[in-house]
Formats: sequence, structure tokens, C-alpha cells
Amino acid sequence: MKIIVAFDFSEQDQIDRFIDDFKETPCWVKLGMEAYYRFGPELIEKIAKEHNVFLDLKLHDIPQTVHNALLNLFKLPISMVNVHALGGSEMLRQAREAKKKSNSQAELIAVTHLTSFSEVQVKKELGIHKSLNESALGLAGLAAHAGLDGIVSSVYESKIIKEAYGRDFKTICPGIRLAGNDHHDQKRVATPLEAKNEGCDYIVVGRAITESPSPVDTYQTILKEIQ
Ligand code: C5P
Repeated sequence: MKIIVAFDFSEQDQIDRFIDDFKETPCWVKLGMEAYYRFGPELIEKIAKEHNVFLDLKLHDIPQTVHNALLNLFKLPISMVNVHALGGSEMLRQAREAKKKSNSQAELIAVTHLTSFSEVQVKKELGIHKSLNESALGLAGLAAHAGLDGIVSSVYESKIIKEAYGRDFKTICPGIRLAGNDHHDQKRVATPLEAKNEGCDYIVVGRAITESPSPVDTYQTILKEIQ
């Protein structure tokens, strides 16, 4: 299991501090819209010199647009990128096609429902009358059948997803907290060891690392815990 540090910053000084802190500790870094839309490909190039970059842009548009956007993103030194499974099977197939054409080794991942969506909202606002879990599992299936490499899921769905779509279909799991950590806005949290026991391939760890007094030491502690 690998640790992805969620780098939810958009200020230059925070980014510089992180790069400096982790300069001798190669790891996986998740960069989202807030940093990418401000600092662009240059930041990716800089971070990718030391680390594996997961570019978390959650692409969601018509199939052709996502395909062409990915052709551009796959030119960057990224190790993982994601799209929205709600874009549908044709969009997912076109995303896969872009990866194939680019000859990229980056993992192409789908997200299902955002954790900010509640069961009630999914019913009322999206008109989906399945349970949230059932609906997410169905969306994971669209991604698996379109040939994507994996899905973002909660730790506790990792086993079900692998049973349904195969052991090689990767699970990328946020909501990680160390014992005694504040849960913040995360509802269903798990420790790194629990995630490992549930068979997750990657854990996404944000504030437990970035808000700790010594992010590198916390990262190393988690690494030891899961080895
Ligand atoms: O600080 P924390 O560890 O809660 O951060 C988790 C990271 O994972 C954030 O970057 C958040 O956007 C992301 N994420 C999530 N739930 C999802 C997908 C992504 O928390 N379903």
C-alpha cells in the first residue's frame, strides 16, 4: 500500500515549505485544482523531480473534450490522474483511449459520488434512487468495464470493489486519520493499518500529515506502521 499526501494548498509559501520539508523524502503527492489552476504545469514539473504526482482534477465533460484534455495532461510527468465516473461510459472509454494513445504509465482513476453529497441529495438532486453505496458500486463498474485502472473509494468499500471488479482494480482511499486525530469533515475514517487490512492500494492522507507539527516525521511514522 502506498501513501499519497494530499497537498491541499494554493499559497506559494505553503507549497515552498512542503517542497523543502520533503526534499529528501520521495513520496506520492496529490495536487488538486486549487494549486494547478494557480501554478499550472510548472508546479507539476517541479514536484515531479522528487515525487510521484497524482493530479486530482476530476475531469467531467463530453467524451471528446475529456479525451483531448487528457492527451495534454499525459504529456506532464504525472503518475496518476482522475476523471468523474458520472461522465458516463463513453467518456470513460475516451479517457482510456487518451491514455493508450499517449502511451502513458500513469494510473487513470475514476471518482464516483463526491463525499460532500448526502444520500438525500443524491436522491433529490440527482434523481438516483439507489442507495449511495449501490450507486457508487455501479459507477465503479462503469470505470472498470471502460478499462480504467481504479477508483477512489472509502476504505470500507475497498474489499467489495475488488470482489466485484478484480484484485488488480486499484482502490484509492481518503478519510485516513491516526489515533487521536481530529476527524474534521470526514465521516467514516480509518487508520492506515485498517486501510492496509482492507486491501486498499493507496491511502490519501491530508491534514493528518500537513497539519501535524512535523509532516515528514508523521509521514515516516505512517510508513513504518504499514510496512
Ligand atoms: O485532510 P484529509 O486527509 O481529510 O484530506 C483528504 C483528501 O482526500 C482531500 O484532498 C480530499 O479532497 C480528498 N478526497 C476525499 N474524499 C473523496 C475524494 C477525495 O476526502 N471521496
